[in-house]
Amino acid sequence: STGVLSGKRGIILGVANNRSIAWGIARAARAAGAELGFTFQGEALEKRVRPLAQELGAQVFGHCDVTDGATIDAVFAAAEQAWGSLDFVVHCIAFSDKDQLTGRYIETTEDNFTKSLAISCYSFTAIAQRAERLMTNGGSMLTLTYYGAEKWMPHYNVMGVAKAALEASVRYLAADLGEKAIRVNAISAGPIKTLAASGIGDFRYILRWNEYNAPLRRSVTIEEVGESAVYLLSPMSRGVTGEILHVDAGYHVVGMKNPAAPDI
Ligand code: NAD
Repeated sequence: STGVLSGKRGIILGVANNRSIAWGIARAARAAGAELGFTFQGEALEKRVRPLAQELGAQVFGHCDVTDGATIDAVFAAAEQAWGSLDFVVHCIAFSDKDQLTGRYIETTEDNFTKSLAISCYSFTAIAQRAERLMTNGGSMLTLTYYGAEKWMPHYNVMGVAKAALEASVRYLAADLGEKAIRVNAISAGPIKTLAASGIGDFRYILRWNEYNAPLRRSVTIEEVGESAVYLLSPMSRGVTGEILHVDAGYHVVGMKNPAAPDI
C-alpha cells in the first residue's frame, strides 16, 4: 500500500464488535496501509473479534484484560516477536458499573470509582509503559475521550471524572515521551451508538441533542473517527502531541441550545 500508514505497525485495543470505535479506526488504518494487531477481552468477545481481525489480516491477536498486567505484557511480547518494533498503539477501552451511569455522580461508590479510573484511565498509562520500549523509531499513541471530561453531562458521572484524568494523562505522557519522538494524543468523539454507549442513561436523548445542536447538525460515525485517527497516527501530524482533537461535528464550540431545534 502507498497510504500514509504504509510500513507502520500498530496494536488496536478495544474492538468488541463491528460498531466499536476501535473497529472504525482499524479499518481506516488498514486502508491507509498499516499492519495491525488486535486484542480482545475474554473468550466471549474472542468469537466476535477473531473474524474482524482476520478480515484486516491481523498479525498479532491475543486476549488482554487491562486489570491483569500480565495479559498486557503478553500482547506486547507477541508484538515484539512478530515485528521487533512498534509504530502506534490505539487505546479504546473504558468501563464503569452501568448502574452508576445514571442519576447522580455523588452516589458513586469508592469501589466503582477505583475500578472505573483503573480501567478507563490508568490502563492507557500501563499500555504506554509497554509500548515505549518497542517504539524505537518514534511512535504515536492514541486514546478516546468524551466531552463529559470538560463539562457536566447527564449520567456520564464517574466516567466524566475518569476521562478528565485520562486527558490530563495524555499531556503528562506527551511530555515524558516527546524526546523519543513518541507522540500522545486523544480524540474526543461525539456520541456514537456502541456497546459501551448503551450503558449510559438516556443515551438516545444525548445523541439526538447533539444532532440538533452541533454545528454540522448531525452525529459522527466510526468511519469519521477512524480517518481522523489516521491523521494522528501518521507522520502528517508529526508536529502534534498532547492534543485533544474533537471529532464531534463541532459540538464542543456551542455555548447554547440551537433556537431552531425541535423539542426532544
Ligand atoms: P465498545 O463497547 O465497542 O468498546 C469498549 C471496549 O472496552 C470493549 O472492547 C471492551 O472489551 C473494552 N474493555 C472494557 N473493560 C476492559 C478491560 N478490563 N480490559 C480490556 N478491555 C476492556 O464502545 P466504544 O464506544 O467504541 O468505546 C471505545 C472508547 O471510546 C471508550 O474509551 C469510550 O469511552 C470512548 N468514547 C465513546 C463514545 C461513544 O459515544 N460511543 C464517545 C466518546 C468516547
